[in-house]
This record gives sequence, structure tokens and C-alpha cells, in this order.
Amino acid sequence: MSNQSNNFIAGDWVQGTSSIANINPSDTNDIIGQFAQASNAHLDDALNAAQIAQKEWATTGLEQRQAVLMKIGEEMMSRSSELGELLSREEGKPLAEGKGEVYRAGQFFTYFAAEVLRQTGDTADSVRPGIEIDIRREPMGTVAIISPWNFPTATASWKIAPALAFGNAVIWKPANLTPASAVALTEIISRQDIPKGLFNLVMGSGPSIGQTLAESPKVHAISFTGSYNVGLQIANAAAKNLTKFQLELGSKNPLVVMDDADIEVAVSVASAGAFGSTGQKCTASSRLVVHEAIHDEFVERMHQSTSALKVGHALEEGTQIGPAVSQQQLDSNLNYMSLAKEEGCEIVCGGHQLELEKPGFYMQPSLLIGGNNSMRVNREELFAPMACVIKVADYDEALTVANDTDFGLVSGIVTKSLSRANHFRRNAESGCVMVNLPTAGTDYHVPFGGRKNSSFGPREQGSYAKELYTQVKTSYISGGNP
Ligand code: NAP
Ligand code: MG
Repeated sequence: MSNQSNNFIAGDWVQGTSSIANINPSDTNDIIGQFAQASNAHLDDALNAAQIAQKEWATTGLEQRQAVLMKIGEEMMSRSSELGELLSREEGKPLAEGKGEVYRAGQFFTYFAAEVLRQTGDTADSVRPGIEIDIRREPMGTVAIISPWNFPTATASWKIAPALAFGNAVIWKPANLTPASAVALTEIISRQDIPKGLFNLVMGSGPSIGQTLAESPKVHAISFTGSYNVGLQIANAAAKNLTKFQLELGSKNPLVVMDDADIEVAVSVASAGAFGSTGQKCTASSRLVVHEAIHDEFVERMHQSTSALKVGHALEEGTQIGPAVSQQQLDSNLNYMSLAKEEGCEIVCGGHQLELEKPGFYMQPSLLIGGNNSMRVNREELFAPMACVIKVADYDEALTVANDTDFGLVSGIVTKSLSRANHFRRNAESGCVMVNLPTAGTDYHVPFGGRKNSSFGPREQGSYAKELYTQVKTSYISGGNP
């Protein structure tokens, strides 16, 4: 068949009713392929097959389940170069980051492979003599997974792996901007010894197939990562059926730089957090909250470092910053640059569109100063390679500014003072805190998530993942008379 990639439904690769072109954001002349869009009928086939397959999977031996997850993870790790290149080609992150993401995604599978064998429950004596109580976790049933384009393989993997590990069936709706990496991961899963219909890929746009999936009464749990506004729609859809759900949303992460900071550490941490993946990270530090005593030196050093960053084709050697993912994202970034100027920020460097050899959505990363925390650019998630410095007089003001946000995924501080670092760690209103480390960059064996408008529901990753993917059953057992 032509170069169209299909959906994986009820154990078969199924053509769509229409298709979309997947464009390389580093070179818009490079079309990666056509990707099938699933219809509501396809989705229904997937949901019906999942219901049957899940029952079989939940009673499949633990070692078999463990082996399947292990194989998926090992294949992803061993093919991380090839699959990372595909990811970088369609998403635009530099090749090393694409490869790293696929390798990390593999680690989620091997981690949860082990977790399959760590599923233990509790027992208790009843308050009524002669009766025993057994408390165990059971799978939810069919889980809907809706993932974003910015970490297309990692976010999906940290949901798919625990869903399967804990005995569930999966319907995966990836972002339409990054279908190739979704098909690649599905292809690996499709070759495993699992019941037909246990794992389904339904590609299509969020407002159509995504919304229908979230609204389906055949779904027993929803795991969503994406924007705040779409998260609210998912919450409304889930509430109508009382479907259990979890949301990982946007943020507006602060990095505090104290007067006693090691300047080298401060600049490298700020630069990685603000500009890594072109700023397209939920963990990006777009607010740099800087003590006035170190402000000018920090800005000077950040200026040098930011101007030196090499923007280029994601697959080209030496590229440090890739393009924005799409024309729409680039337009949004440039609009935020105009807004920053209107609101009174001073542009130290960057912020303009770049014309490179290949036509792509390129922009020079930008450092802005003179801003305050009530400006829209310091309150809304930008998802752009833009960092705004907010000058503060002391630690107390820094902490107040850091916490003065509707979001709360990650907060960071650069300081040599242990007592300040500890105070910040204890008082930051965020789900994750980084001390002398970039706000972006987390491990896979510990919980990840935020507070306020950044998250809702149970934490993801590590053993905490079981809170979404399982439900508790309490059984009372009387032996009768001996
Ligand atoms: P998005 O626009 O909210 O989309 C996320 C996913 O939801 C996509 O698969 C999208 O499909 C789908 N979708 C859109 N509208 C929908 C609807 N009405 N019903 C059901 N599904 C719908 O977010 P994005 O632009 O892909 O990703 C960027 C956002 O993700 C940022 O806000 C970022 O902070 C957040 N993010 C958060 C985390 C975290 O862990 N906290 C991690 C990574 C990213 P289509 O795109 O195909 O239409
Ligand atoms: Mg693309």
C-alpha cells in the first residue's frame, strides 16, 4: 500500500476514512508521510475489542505480562537512535533529545515490567471475630490515553506501560502533529504476545476523535497530558460518566537565582530550563526570578550564552535549538514577543524569526528583562524559547513571586545556602522542586506531577501510577464454623 500509516484497531492495521500529512518542522518540504484518521466507528470497534481483550489480559500470568513489557522496553532502547531520529524529524527537537526521549520511554516499560511483579495487597482481621479481610487492587478496565506532541513518545509510554502492567486495555489517541512516533511505538506493541484488541491506536484530531473518546461510557479511566483548556474539557466529559481521570497540564515554572548563586551553574541551569526543546516543555522555566545583587551579571552572562545558541535543523549536527513544532506555534511565539514589548519588557537578545537554508519554523531564543510578575507574558504558558527576568530585592520577594502563579508544576532555585534551599523546597507551591538543577529533567521511578492548574488527580510515574490504573477491592471472608 501507499505510504499511508494506519490505525491499529482490534488487533489489525485499519485504513482511515481520511488522512493528514505529517510535516517536518525543520524543513516543510519534507513530508514524513500520510497518517490515517480514525472514524467514530473505528473507535467503537476499538472500545468493544478492548473490553473483551482486557478480561483475558487481567488473567494472563504475571510473568507473561512482565515479559511483554520488558520486550517493548528493550526494543525501544536498542532502537533509540532510529526511532529518535524519526521523532526529531517530525517534532523538531535536536537529535540527541529525540534519541534520549525514546531511550527514556523504553525505561518506562522496563520499570513497569518489574512493577508487574510488585503488586501486593493488604490483609486485616475484621472487628468481628472469625472474619478476615483481603484488600487488593484490580485493573480499571479500558483506559483512554490522550497525549501531546511535545514529548510524543515519553508521555505516552509513561501512561501505556503502567496501564498494561496493571492489567488494563488501552485506547491511545496521540497528538496529530506527531503521528509517526505513535505508529512506530504501536508497531512494536503490535508484535507482542497480547490479546487482540488489548492495545489500540486511534489517530485523529482532538476535538473530534479525542473528545468522543473522553466522552465514551466504555472508558473506565482517562489519562490526559496537554493544555489547561483542553484539560477542562476532558474533566467535563469525564464527570458526565463519573469516569476516573488524571490531568497533567501546562505551567509557568519559576527559576529563582539567589545572590549567592554560582553564576556558572545559574546560567547553565536557566538556559537548559528555558530554551531546551525550543521552550516547548511543560517544565520549562520561562520566569527567571533574579536577586538584584546578581541581576546585572546574570543578565550579561545569559545574554552571551543565549546569543551563542545554534538554532537549526533538528537532525543537523551542532543544532542546540530546533524549530517550533508548527506555523501556529511559531505565530503564537512571535505574538508573545510583541506582547512582551507592549507590556514594557526590554529585549536583550533574540525573539525574531530566522530564515535558514531549509524552510522551517525557526526563531532565535530570547532573553527579556524589565518585566514584572503581573504581565501576561509572565502569567501565561508561552511554550516558546523566551525567558523573562523578574528582578527581586530579596529571598522573601523571590519566593512570593515564584508562588504567585495559577500553575504549579516545577519550581527551581539556584543557591549555595542550604537553609534557603531547604526553606524554598518546603514552601514552593509546586509538585516538583529543583535545587541547583534545571526545572526540566525528571526521573522515571518517582512520582511526577503538579499543583493548582497544572495537574488534577493521582500522580504519574513510579509506584504512584497504580492509583489511576487500579481500583481497590475489600473482601470479607468468613470461614464458617470449623
Ligand atoms: P493540547 O492541544 O491540549 O493537546 C493534547 C492532546 O489532546 C492532543 O492529543 C490533542 O489532539 C488532544 N485534544 C485536543 N482537543 C481535545 C478535546 N477537545 N478532547 C480530547 N482531546 C483533545 O496540548 P498540546 O499542544 O498537544 O501540548 C502542549 C501542552 O501540553 C502544553 O500546555 C504543555 O504544558 C502540556 N504538557 C504537560 C505535561 C505535564 O506532564 N504536565 C507534559 C507535556 C506537555 P490534537 O493535537 O491531535 O488535536
Ligand atoms: Mg510533524
